[in-house]
This record gives sequence, structure tokens and C-alpha cells, in this order.
Amino acid sequence: MAPHASTAQDHTVPDMTTTNDDLVAEMREKIAAAADKNALAALPKKLSPSRANNFKGCPQQFYFRTIARISTPQSFASLRGTIAHGALERIFDHPPGERTAELAITYVRPHWESIINPDLEKLNERDRGYAESAQKDALEIITPGTDVEADLLKAAEDCVRNWFSLEKVNTFTPTNLELPDGRTIDGRELWVAARLAGVDVNGRIDRVDRWYTPDQVVHWSVTDYKSSAQAPWLKKPYRRETVERIKDENFFQLKVYAAVLWKMFGIQVEWLRLIYIGTDDRETGVQQLRVTREMIDATVRDLESTWGSIKRAARTGVWPTKTGPLCDWCHFQPVCPAFSSPDDEQADKAAASN
Ligand code: SF4
Repeated sequence: MAPHASTAQDHTVPDMTTTNDDLVAEMREKIAAAADKNALAALPKKLSPSRANNFKGCPQQFYFRTIARISTPQSFASLRGTIAHGALERIFDHPPGERTAELAITYVRPHWESIINPDLEKLNERDRGYAESAQKDALEIITPGTDVEADLLKAAEDCVRNWFSLEKVNTFTPTNLELPDGRTIDGRELWVAARLAGVDVNGRIDRVDRWYTPDQVVHWSVTDYKSSAQAPWLKKPYRRETVERIKDENFFQLKVYAAVLWKMFGIQVEWLRLIYIGTDDRETGVQQLRVTREMIDATVRDLESTWGSIKRAARTGVWPTKTGPLCDWCHFQPVCPAFSSPDDEQADKAAASN
């Protein structure tokens, strides 16, 4: 194990075999209520790349999340990543040369406190909604003052230390980035929205970086932090085509953001970067993809076709299941038609009424 990798593995994996009857009953209730909904009207007005990716991965899972509005419980690993994120953002308040892992770690606990005790009055409506749901999700799995909370904060600190091994944090600054038209943006946690091929897209980018080559030519990259220790395509000796497919899915979100940044600001992004802060191994923890014009055009076409498929599914009520290895980790498996039948549902109801 890498010296700074998380030691809190016991908390990372949701155990689907222990899904309790109440949870399943609640999911069934929401699914029954969704059956009366107009799915077209229930679709989001703007499509985020992660929702599009979710539909591409499994339309049935998209239905559960987006139409039936069944939320997935927060995991220890993702919460650890969220807390570390706050420190990685705030360290850029300090000038290059002053950014150290120890300084960044001082932001870990305050960020955690801000998640569990958000100052809702200071937030706009959109951010208030996010803060309330983040608070609820966090408190569902962590009780403040317990050993689990201490483990969580320690694991988040480990992620912050890892990050200092993965990136040269003192050599770039994602704030006050001058755009081609002279405006400036803060490239941290940047909210973006644009209309691409008739699809309204929005989302939040972890980091936009601008850097110069020695001949003073400006370059742009988009970075996304991942809380896990490894890119999914490195986890098994997959065949080359499988690796390409998984990679494509994982970089899809950033490709969409590259298209959005071009549309909004005229920025031509050259590199997409996924940073896996669950490890300190630079070779595996930093994954990059060079952007081409063809790639962006293909991504926009893909987005347009995915949005068309989502609207068709909403019109027809047909949300196909797409089974695969990820089903083992899917929160919805107990209610998924690919894994349960109406008989199971009746049996669950009978057991609940006994
Ligand atoms: S269990 Fe598999 S098929 Fe069913 S919703 Fe989840 S990912 Fe889709």
C-alpha cells in the first residue's frame, strides 16, 4: 500500500446484501409514485455530463435517480473525497511557494464542519439545495464526535497529502485566469452552462488551468479530482477495447466541459486530467487525455444523441436495463427489473405486513 493511501477501507464499500427492508420499501414507494408522473416533464431542463453518462451507462438507473428521484447513499470514500476537495480548493488562496500539505490540511476540519453545519442563510437557492442534501447525506453515515468521524478526517488528510505527491501545487494558480476576450475567471469549482447542438448543458468543473510554454504560448487544461485510488480501467487486465471504452466513459464529462468552455469563453482546452487522490503514485494517479477537435465534435454529437434517447425513453416509458459488473455496486439492484420480479415485490410486501 502506498504510504499515504487511505487506511479506512472498512468504510468504503456499501454492502448490498444488508440493504434493509425499509430502504427497499421506500424505493418501491418512490417508483410507484413515479409511474404516475409525466416523465418528460420530470426531466431536468439542463443536462449535466454526469447525468448523460448515467443514462449511457444504464437507462434504468437514470430513471431511478432522475425520474423516481431516489437518492443514492453517500459512501465513506466519496465523503472523504468531498472533504479533501475543499482543502484542495482553498490552498490556492495562498501564493505559490506557501502551499504545503500541512497548510492545506488545516482546511480539512473546517470544510467538514461547513458540510454538517452549513450557513444556509448565506447561500443562493441552488447552493442551499446542494448544501442541505450534502448535510443530510453526510450525517446519515457519520455521527460527529465518533471514531468514524476521526477516521474520516484522517482519510481526507491522507488524500490531501497524496495530492501534493501527484501535482506540483506551487507551479500553477487556477485563479484570476485571463480569458481570450480579456475577462477573468476563477478556475476553481467553476459553474458553467452552454447550449450545445440544441442541448442545454450545465455542471461544475473542479479546476481549469492556464499555463505557458517557454515561448509564452498559452495552454488550457481541465482537471477533475476523483476520490478513488485508481482509474477503473487499471483495476483488471482488461482487453484493449474494454480499456478504451471505460476510458472514454470516464473522460466523457471532461470532454463535454471542454466543449462548454470553448462555447462560453473561446478557450481551446488541450488536456483533460483525472487526478485520483486516493493514491500518491503519480504514474497511476494522474491520467491525461489530449483533446482534439474531432474528439470535441464527436462528444457534442454523442451528447445530442443521448439527449434524444433520454427524451424518447421518457415519452415511451421504456428505460432499458444494462447489466454488467457495475450492477454489483448498484444501489438499485434490489428493485431493478433485471434482478427482481413482480413476485419478489409481492413477497416483500407480504413480509412487511407480517
Ligand atoms: S442493477 Fe444494473 S441493470 Fe439494474 S439499474 Fe443498476 S446498473 Fe442498471
